[in-house]
Amino acid sequence: MTLRVALIGKPLKRRHSVVMHNAAFAAAGIDARYELLEIDEGEVARAVGDARGPEWLGLGVTAPYKRLVAGLLDEVEEDARLIGAVNNVVRTPGGRLIGFNSDAPGFRAGVELAMGRPLAGLNVVVAGAGGAAHAVVHALVDAGAWSVTIGNRTLPATISGIAAVGLDSPEFLSALRSADLAVNATTVGMLDPGVTIPVEQLRDHATVFDLVYVPFETPLLAAARTRGLRAANGSEMLIAQAAIAFERWTGVADMSGVMREAVAPLLADARARA
Ligand code: NAP
Repeated sequence: MTLRVALIGKPLKRRHSVVMHNAAFAAAGIDARYELLEIDEGEVARAVGDARGPEWLGLGVTAPYKRLVAGLLDEVEEDARLIGAVNNVVRTPGGRLIGFNSDAPGFRAGVELAMGRPLAGLNVVVAGAGGAAHAVVHALVDAGAWSVTIGNRTLPATISGIAAVGLDSPEFLSALRSADLAVNATTVGMLDPGVTIPVEQLRDHATVFDLVYVPFETPLLAAARTRGLRAANGSEMLIAQAAIAFERWTGVADMSGVMREAVAPLLADARARA
């Protein structure tokens, strides 16, 4: 029996997760396939119900169903509940469906790799207050960041009890001046032109981390590099969150190397088109 995982969402334009997971199944010698399942809202309950069948390892979940799916599961893990988003589901051998979130630990792994140090004790500024920002702020608070300042275009917005300030407010600019890490968790640089973080405000040792990975280098990252700052895009977060989900589905750990190699051509394509 070929085991299955499907990513549910709409629209599903990217093949990064398909390529990473199918390469990992092959490398681990597991007869399984990961497929894209672009479905309307009215079809989500049925897709989740289907995933209770014995051939299913679990589901990936992306926009706009990360909240909706939570109400259809047997259990939602504490972190996913606090973040307010389920981006993966694992099926237990007994057929129970458990929702979890791999973006938060994926972010942590990606940034810690980029910075070469843990998040504990850092002053951090986050631009954005959407779904990804919720995972980012949760990870930062959980990891013991010293301070977290959130800037968002639309106010009010609150994450983990922290009220966001305006992106061009004095509070945001002041936090940037003492930040060790500045994170773009908005869609700016991917969907909209421009930058959310004025890099000239940052100190010389600061790191800029952009969750966006298509294009490979956003205008924010280009500005940070020109300014001589350490800068990283969201590709390592993407790989880390996929490897975490893969381990939950299969018990096979540390597939990030296989996944990195498999997804490299797609990331390189994003570099070429930038
Ligand atoms: P989302 O829930 O739609 O949130 C979008 C955020 O961007 C909101 O804070 C929104 O502000 C802000 N925004 C949008 N357009 C803006 C503009 N023109 N100026 C200023 N702010 C603007 O999206 P999401 O799911 O959080 O995703 C955010 C980004 O993270 C996406 O690019 C996604 O690809 C990336 N991501 C990467 C990974 C990874 O593994 N690397 C994982 C998850 C997400 P308002 O509240 O004012 O609308």
